Amino acid sequence: MRFVLLGPPGAGKGTQAERLAKKYGIPHIATGDILRQSVKDRTKSGMLAKSYMDRGELVPDQILIGIIRDRLSSLDCSKGSILDGFPRTVTQADALSSILHRLNQKLDGAINLELPEEEVIARLSGRRVCRSCGTNYHTQFNPPKEGGKCDKCGGQLYQRDDDKEEAIQNRLKVYQRQTEPLIKYYKKEGLLISVDGAKEISTVFENLCEIVEGVKK
Ligand code: AMP
Repeated sequence: MRFVLLGPPGAGKGTQAERLAKKYGIPHIATGDILRQSVKDRTKSGMLAKSYMDRGELVPDQILIGIIRDRLSSLDCSKGSILDGFPRTVTQADALSSILHRLNQKLDGAINLELPEEEVIARLSGRRVCRSCGTNYHTQFNPPKEGGKCDKCGGQLYQRDDDKEEAIQNRLKVYQRQTEPLIKYYKKEGLLISVDGAKEISTVFENLCEIVEGVKK
């Protein structure tokens, strides 16, 4: 079972992908997380990616395509995977299609989590992330039990640089210009499935499970 999750930043791709991966026992591949880890580890691609990420710009396609090619070729992805944050451009979508073709694998669907712009801004500006385990919180909608601390591991919560006001506006523009065309792209391929991302986390998850179960049959 192999899906990509589409949708604007803050639509809940990470949260939902993590849950799906856990329930169906397949890897959750989040390119944003992979890049943030590379920045933390000060690798060559991490150093190159950082300035793009801080500004809310997309990191060059070739870096991402290399990351995804390596990741999808690993053994644990042979049963399936949930891609979160990739592809984000038509070039990346074309590359994904040829990588999967070479691996003799195929996509079961591209799920678009729909969310209106005002909601995107409200969600991103309140998002806080655990520095240690990466769990997401929201100051208003999903606060931690103890202020500034992760419920799961006690790690410190922080606001991503790209969740700050100026970067959010830029990410929205980048999304509309470079990523939104993927909706048409996957519609044309007959793979697009739209889901209302504004509903409660658990309701969205139920909807996604129905879709996944439908494909498994
Ligand atoms: P995310 O955690 O998915 O919101 O990604 C955070 C940032 O990482 C994005 O704003 C981009 O700068 C970069 N990034 C993640 N995935 C990609 C991708 N597929 N293509 C280009 N840049 C990406």
